[in-house]
Amino acid sequence: MGTLDPELADRVHDALTAKGVTVRLGEELRALEPASGGGESGGGNVVTDRGAVPADLVVLGMGVRPNTDRAREAGVPLSARGAIAVDRRQRTGSDGVWAAGDCAAVHHRVSQQPTHVALGTVANKTGRVAGINLGGGYATFKGVLGTAITKVCEVGIGRTGLTSREAEEAGFETVVGAADTTVQAGYMRAPGFAHVRLVCEQGTGRLLGGQIVGTQGVAKHIDTVATALWTDLTCHDLIDLDLSYAPPFSSVWDPVQQAARVALRAL
Ligand SMILES: Cc1cc2nc3c(=O)[nH]c(=O)nc-3n(C[C@H](O)[C@H](O)[C@H](O)COP(=O)(O)OP(=O)(O)OC[C@H]3O[C@@H](n4cnc5c(N)ncnc54)[C@H](O)[C@@H]3O)c2cc1C
Repeated sequence: MGTLDPELADRVHDALTAKGVTVRLGEELRALEPASGGGESGGGNVVTDRGAVPADLVVLGMGVRPNTDRAREAGVPLSARGAIAVDRRQRTGSDGVWAAGDCAAVHHRVSQQPTHVALGTVANKTGRVAGINLGGGYATFKGVLGTAITKVCEVGIGRTGLTSREAEEAGFETVVGAADTTVQAGYMRAPGFAHVRLVCEQGTGRLLGGQIVGTQGVAKHIDTVATALWTDLTCHDLIDLDLSYAPPFSSVWDPVQQAARVALRAL
């Protein structure tokens, strides 16, 4: 969960711990060893710099990087994190060569920098743009916000735009609006929980990013934040948005708007 600010990554940590998962951080994988007398189905040990952990099954989630060796060898210019540099029409720096999807760099609409985002949402859109242009049409890719959603058991996790650290690296001075609230109206029988964090620009209140961790589908509210980011809304604008409300769905102030109100106080 390195794409979240630590305050929200901690909530994911809590959700895992509540499920009985032991989370071991800052520990380096050294080897995967079959147990003596074991073998393919006999289990084994995950060996780290701190010792051995017995395991029946190992799932590796080690991140993604673009496989662009062949492009580099062919002289195609690369960009962020080794992804292929493209223009707004998905043309590379080599005549007649187009790139889209996980292998290609994209423009980040908030940081205004090239970045690499390995997501199916982006692959589909950049592929569509490349296809239209290759077919003789005209289309441009408008860039990304890094909007993504996932879940750990019943806890959903959504993020978009810049984290606090990314915003500061991009040169923004920031304020944060954080709300620890319920998904449904608080007096409902099982209202769930929602942690919302909005990163805004100091002074202007312009929204720079947002993260949500919570139950009952609340993480999908990240799309409200993404739409606000796309159109350069401020936390003042967010508060004014005419969002829906009924007790089984949310409080009268949507969780995102509750965080915007906190951000406004911090501004
Ligand atoms: C486990 C997992 C879960 C994911 N979940 C989500 C999700 O929930 N939401 C989301 O937005 N994204 C998700 N993604 C990311 C998403 O799947 C990718 O971003 C998307 O598939 C990228 O599409 P692509 O066409 O660029 O690349 P790919 O889908 O990787 O396709 C590339 C193709 O090129 C082929 N190929 C490679 N080298 C050569 C070669 N030399 N010659 C010929 N063919 C070659 C490969 O075999 C492959 O078929 C997930 C990815 C993984 C791995």
